[in-house]
Amino acid sequence: MGIPLPGGGGRGGIVGIIIAVLVALVGGGFGLNAATGGGGSEQGDNTSLDQKCSGDQALQELDCRNTLYVNSIQAYWRKALPESFGDQYTPSKTVFFSQAVNTGCGNADSGVGPFYCPADDLVYIDLSFYKLLADQLGAEGEFAQPYVLAHEYGHHVQDLLGTEAQMRRQQQRDPNNANALSVKLELQADCYAGAWAKNATGTADADGQKIFKSITEQDIQQAIDTAEKIGDDAIQKRSGRPVNPDEFTHGTSEQRKQWFTKGYSTGDPKSCDTFGNG
Ligand SMILES: [Zn+2]
Repeated sequence: MGIPLPGGGGRGGIVGIIIAVLVALVGGGFGLNAATGGGGSEQGDNTSLDQKCSGDQALQELDCRNTLYVNSIQAYWRKALPESFGDQYTPSKTVFFSQAVNTGCGNADSGVGPFYCPADDLVYIDLSFYKLLADQLGAEGEFAQPYVLAHEYGHHVQDLLGTEAQMRRQQQRDPNNANALSVKLELQADCYAGAWAKNATGTADADGQKIFKSITEQDIQQAIDTAEKIGDDAIQKRSGRPVNPDEFTHGTSEQRKQWFTKGYSTGDPKSCDTFGNG
């Protein structure tokens, strides 16, 4: 993937996209500004964020790059959700934070990793998690980040489609299977991430400029490697615990790889039928 570049435009094009998205995020009263509340945010003085993302170094900044990924993921679903499921897509904002943040789902610290909160329809991304991905999990490579974002937006799509609420009701009816049901939801989000990755080069910003110039096999391999690194069995092994399938909530490394790959190879979110409803 390298640095994503707009199709025909120069740097001005990229800068235009980023500013537009940031204004949308900050202007909503949430997003980047609100994320500072938890204390010790990396963002520090957010009044400078617009300036930061408008300079020549913009795409080297983590939060600026991530904003661009979010833009692509949501552009994909705006088209794919009506096409595949006959539903309209409602955008969700991303709150970038580090250390701690208050959410509609309670207080969260960076230990929880990235997550989607159905109560406030927001994606929460702890920027320091990316560092952990690279440093501790060895999931290096730039494409780990869009994969993680696309997975979380997959949960937003599940929320919009009612899949998430349906799964919670099933969990209440069948508590013994709560973890197994959670795994299905998580693997579907991985599969949705794969479907986005397949179609990402077709996404454009509001001006019709391509958001990604190309996505290479190497990028996809980075996403697959990341999926593998964050499989439940891999995480249990790393933490020195015995591998216990009863405690799995996200799926094994193999399953996560498999479902991301399924979404990627089909490019069709309808193929992400982890619940086996046919
Ligand atoms: Zn998830």
